[in-house]
Amino acid sequence: MQSTVVILGTGGTIAAAGGDVGYAAGQLSVAQLLAAVPALSAWPLEAEQVAQLDSKDMSHEVWQRLAQRVVHHLARPEVAGVVVTHGTDTLEETAYFLQRVLAPAKPVVLTAAMRPATSLQADGPQNLLDAVAVAAHPGARGVVAVLQGRVHGPVDVRKREPFALDAFDSGEAGPVALVQDQGLRVLRPWPATPSVGTQALERAVADWPRVGVVASHAGVDGVAVRAMVAAGYQGLVLEGTGNGTVHAALVDAAAEARAAGRVVWRSTRCAGGGVVGQPAGELPSAGVLTPARARIELMLRLMAGEQGEPIAPSAG
Ligand code: ASP
Repeated sequence: MQSTVVILGTGGTIAAAGGDVGYAAGQLSVAQLLAAVPALSAWPLEAEQVAQLDSKDMSHEVWQRLAQRVVHHLARPEVAGVVVTHGTDTLEETAYFLQRVLAPAKPVVLTAAMRPATSLQADGPQNLLDAVAVAAHPGARGVVAVLQGRVHGPVDVRKREPFALDAFDSGEAGPVALVQDQGLRVLRPWPATPSVGTQALERAVADWPRVGVVASHAGVDGVAVRAMVAAGYQGLVLEGTGNGTVHAALVDAAAEARAAGRVVWRSTRCAGGGVVGQPAGELPSAGVLTPARARIELMLRLMAGEQGEPIAPSAG
């Protein structure tokens, strides 16, 4: 019977100790986090520490190790699902990475906290309990994020607030489901974004294609783009303004980059939605993807041997 839930700890504020600001992330072990939630003592759980970091410092090495551990545990017949405790800052990037690499049939639930474990407002224990409930739920699958009683899909979830407890949402798409008293109230079809390929599990991280993000803004010049091309970056995502508009100085540098064989996409810095349309002559659009997600997407596609025009995965 599939009933075990494996908790993979990576650090973050959920594992922090200290005041509400200026604390040190990644101090408590995942075993200590579990011990703080008495309701979890009823679940068949296993805990494993994969990393212990502030997620602002997330690395491709940790992503690869995390993905490998997820694969290992999901292959065990007795495991219903995996929970990943994570920092909030890059949670949406890790969720997207894991989904686009693994597209797992069983649930992989990322959760986090906006307050350290020692705060009067500590949100980690409830989020952890909810995440375990989702990971064990027979109706859940794929990579999702569970925060503040909401289940978010890996393409839509965004951290929108730097300090507020209720910091995440799914924009216009809305949450996939609500977690209510450890049950699920499903609100829309469960997301099922496919894998782009599993090369990231095996290929040495040093050999992953280098893809960077450059922001378009008033007064920008092409220095960063040209430097990245010179440094061997294979792909660039321009964080555009509005509907993926890009400063003329960056357009010129991007044209040079493309002539040199680099792939350049444009995205938007707008807090919601994605780039709509692909007018003739414009740089390829990253569609619904945020600049950070577009960077991951382009990196994975290059790793899979794809080039050229982006086809943004359907929202989910
Ligand atoms: N800087 C922390 C992190 O991402 C913030 C948090 O977890 O809320 O690890």
